[in-house]
Amino acid sequence: MESREDSALAVAVSALRAAVDALLEASPIPLSDDEFTALMRETEKVGRQLEAVKIGFVDETRRRDLHGRAGVKSPALYLEQSLRLSRADAGRRVRFADKLAVRRLPGQVLEAELPAVAEAQRAGDISADHVTRILQAMDRLPGSLDIEKREAAEVCLAEYASTGWPDDVRKLGDDILRRVDPDGKLCGDSDRQRMRGLTLGTQRVDGMSALVGEITPELRAVFEPVLAKLARPGMCNPEDPESPRTTVESVDRERLEAAAKRDTRTAAQRAHDALLGFLRFEADPAVLGTHRGLPVGTVVTMSLTDLENRSGVATTATGGTLSIGEAVRLAAEAGDSTRYLAVFDDAGMPLHLGRGNNRLANKAQRLALIAAEKGCTRPNCTAPASLAAVHHATDWSKGGRTDIENLTLACDSCHALVHDGPGGWRTVKLGADSPFPGRTGWIAPPHINPSGVPEVNHRHHPGEVMAATVSRIQSRNEPERQRLKEWLNRRRSTPPPSTE
Ligand SMILES: [Zn+2]
Repeated sequence: MESREDSALAVAVSALRAAVDALLEASPIPLSDDEFTALMRETEKVGRQLEAVKIGFVDETRRRDLHGRAGVKSPALYLEQSLRLSRADAGRRVRFADKLAVRRLPGQVLEAELPAVAEAQRAGDISADHVTRILQAMDRLPGSLDIEKREAAEVCLAEYASTGWPDDVRKLGDDILRRVDPDGKLCGDSDRQRMRGLTLGTQRVDGMSALVGEITPELRAVFEPVLAKLARPGMCNPEDPESPRTTVESVDRERLEAAAKRDTRTAAQRAHDALLGFLRFEADPAVLGTHRGLPVGTVVTMSLTDLENRSGVATTATGGTLSIGEAVRLAAEAGDSTRYLAVFDDAGMPLHLGRGNNRLANKAQRLALIAAEKGCTRPNCTAPASLAAVHHATDWSKGGRTDIENLTLACDSCHALVHDGPGGWRTVKLGADSPFPGRTGWIAPPHINPSGVPEVNHRHHPGEVMAATVSRIQSRNEPERQRLKEWLNRRRSTPPPSTE
């Protein structure tokens, strides 16, 4: 059997490293513009071929069941953790491997599901962006399309992509779809169900979020009447205090017509305001029921200092942020609905947990955890508090008590990672000697972090990472500052030289 050092793969990887090291050092200056561009293109091609290599690696990790051995839920999560990938990148690589990897089984090699696309990638002719768009186009083909037409569509897309631009692949896909299914007859319910989806994107720094998706005829059927009613010119206009806000409020025709004349919003803005009006006043919380023990509604938390100064941001249990002004308005207009306002002092102790006039002491622990931890506490988990449940940091079966000091928020998938088996995580509450006393430390299994040092999640506390970096920079500069101080002191104590 080959040893690690002389396996063909190990030899190739070390040659690749040596070549890339040489590339990093090599100067482009002696080359003409044409020569430089040609080399840049060649390097791009090799990078694309490397993508094919990485997809083969993904398939190999699955064949070896590496995630199962490490006790990790899925191959994507194993890749995410062991290669430090973003969730999107890990998911993308697994999707590519599903469609493009050549399967090596004992005694046989199975062709990829999309062989023409796989071949174009192995040749370095298409990039990951091309592949993403080809897979999207293939996914839109109706399930009942015959095999030859499907194959023709794949070859057509792969060939086009080998010379064309990723952004045009979508157009070609639409064109193919129009040809193979001109009146949409082949597209069935199962195809539509496969394509459905709605994604609420990450909230940007400016507070805005993208909402994109494809909806089924059924959702369209119930959504359109809402738009028809609430997105009419004059309805739900936030800039117009006289504009009717809700269908519950009886709409006076003259008042609506007058409001419509003043309405300068675009159709897209009216649709946005209609959805807001609908969710704010018409989605009945009593019908939505409860979620993790709290009625479905908006939980808004803020600090007393921010509330008093009317500055800073409030956070919601679903992980969003609002300005303090917006939060106070939302909580105040809630009336008897299920919006909660929680105010905490600077030490994180709850001062006010309000729902209308009712005290909510029995929910205090969960609300306090929402305010203090803001989300799942496992390092790098982005699940907001609305997706997390209250768990014991030291398990109840091991003597952990149901005190706030032993409780923590964790999302279901992270909580499932905590166990004594292989690949299991452990949780501890950090003591006063830690830089983060009272927080929950997570100890990763060795394949993620061999050091065994507990780590906290900074994702929901972005200021912390900043503070730690600043203090590291300050301590790095400390000797420099000391020297400067000593030099200044010496200058002051030394008498000026005599001018005589
Ligand atoms: Zn989590």
